Amino acid sequence: MILHILQIGHPLLRKSTRQLSSEEILSEPIQALIFSMCETMRAAPGVGLAAPQIGESLQLIVIEDKSEYTTNTSAEQLALRERKPVPLHILINPKITEKKIEKVEFFEACLSVEGYIGVVPRSLIISVEALNEKAEPISINARGWYARILQHEIDHLNGILCTDRMKISTLMTCPNYIEHWLEKPISETLKILDAE
Ligand code: ZN
Repeated sequence: MILHILQIGHPLLRKSTRQLSSEEILSEPIQALIFSMCETMRAAPGVGLAAPQIGESLQLIVIEDKSEYTTNTSAEQLALRERKPVPLHILINPKITEKKIEKVEFFEACLSVEGYIGVVPRSLIISVEALNEKAEPISINARGWYARILQHEIDHLNGILCTDRMKISTLMTCPNYIEHWLEKPISETLKILDAE
């Protein structure tokens, strides 16, 4: 079932979330919710979806980045972002266990901030511990775009949206981003938009 994605301003996007027990994870309603969240993410399409975005205050995230999502992005831009396909996987009760201080800045969008995009600084490398959909513990060491996706989605579980971390003078509509900024180096973009 495709679920409705809440948009910025909806109070549930700002509410704290609760953890799921192993019994709950294995229960039919949560398994059905996970399935629907995967369907919703793919239909959007998006590279990640957190439970608060579909109105559930639970620590549950689905992530998948496919090569077909980046067919319009140049190899150079993909390399700069360190963006590679990430297979579908589920994170429950995730905890960031390590976050490198080194940050990288790129334009980032959110399915709950439809139509807009802006520059968000994120750590280049992070480590995460979580449970999967079988309630088994998993450890993730991520860098580049995957690390960005993880930070974005885990923020959702804490009521934080990418606009909170955005260099706000870079906030723009997606068509303007594509027309004017897509292929520009971020350093030049920040200089022009005076976001330093
Ligand atoms: Zn989001």
